[in-house]
Amino acid sequence: MKNKYSGKCLCGAVTYQVDGQPVVVAQCHCDECRRLSGTGHTIGAMFPIAAVTMNGKLNEFRYQSDKESAVTKSFCGKCGSPIFGTNSRTPDHLTLSLGSMDDATELDVQVVIFERDKKHWDQLGPDVMSFATQPDWKPDN
Ligand SMILES: [Zn+2]
Ligand SMILES: [Zn+2]
Repeated sequence: MKNKYSGKCLCGAVTYQVDGQPVVVAQCHCDECRRLSGTGHTIGAMFPIAAVTMNGKLNEFRYQSDKESAVTKSFCGKCGSPIFGTNSRTPDHLTLSLGSMDDATELDVQVVIFERDKKHWDQLGPDVMSFATQPDWKPDN
C-alpha cells in the first residue's frame, strides 16, 4: 500500500501532499455536504493535520453544526473546488475531499454517515444509460 498521497483543485492553484494512511474514509449525505458538493454526498478521507502539507491560496467558510461544533470548509479561491474540512470536535484532524486526490485507487469508502438524509436520486437505478465518455448529444431545441 502506498504511503503518500497528493492532490489538487480543478485549476491547479491549490495542491497538497499527505503522508501515511487516512484514519477513515467516509461518505456523508448530510444537508451541508449535499449543498457543498452540489450532488448527493461528499467522500472525505480524514488525516492528522500534521500529515498534510497545503500549498496555494484557500478560502474558508465557517459554520456551526447542529452538534454545536465549529466546522470550516476550505476551497480554492479561484475555481471553488472543495479541498478539506475541519471540525472542532476533532481539532487534530482534517478531512480531504477524496475527489481532489490524484490517485485514490487504493482507498475505499469505509462508512456512510447521515444515511437518513440520502436522496433517492443519489442512487442509480438499473435503467440508467451509461456512456464511457461524453456522448455526442445536444438538446433538440
Ligand atoms: Zn483551483
Ligand atoms: Zn456531511
